[in-house]
Amino acid sequence: MSARDVAAAVTDPELPMLTLEDLGVLRDVTEHDGRVVVTITPTYTGCPAMATMRADLEVALRRAGHLDVVVRTSLSPAWTTDWITERGRRALAEHGIAPPRHDARPAPVDLVLLAPRPALACPLCGSDDTRELSRFGTTACRSLQVCRACGETFDHLKEI
Ligand SMILES: [Zn+2]
Repeated sequence: MSARDVAAAVTDPELPMLTLEDLGVLRDVTEHDGRVVVTITPTYTGCPAMATMRADLEVALRRAGHLDVVVRTSLSPAWTTDWITERGRRALAEHGIAPPRHDARPAPVDLVLLAPRPALACPLCGSDDTRELSRFGTTACRSLQVCRACGETFDHLKEI
């Protein structure tokens, strides 16, 4: 397997149904004179998963025979949840997590009332009659939602 394929298949420690490629954090993989340089863009600032992600990349690449691995981070442009691929969004929904909405990042304050965020669809029954129970779910990057139609709670990966 090429270094790129190995790196792309590594999964996110907090969202194991998503590969780094699905998550959109994998920016670049280059191989030169036996050295693999992987460039990733961190997701949520200060997300403790980043250290695990780097370690997982190094381990996966070494196991695949790429012994000289450097993981770099690129902060600009900043990652947003819009970088999550369609396949990644489907994988989240299949695991009961409402994917982030496209173009639903916080709008400037004076536009908030004019541009409400689209309703979140319940990943369990599809109803959009949902509301937020808590800004923070099982991890800092998720919120906890409840569906009024089926009564179930579900996680939502917050837009940034
Ligand atoms: Zn529901």
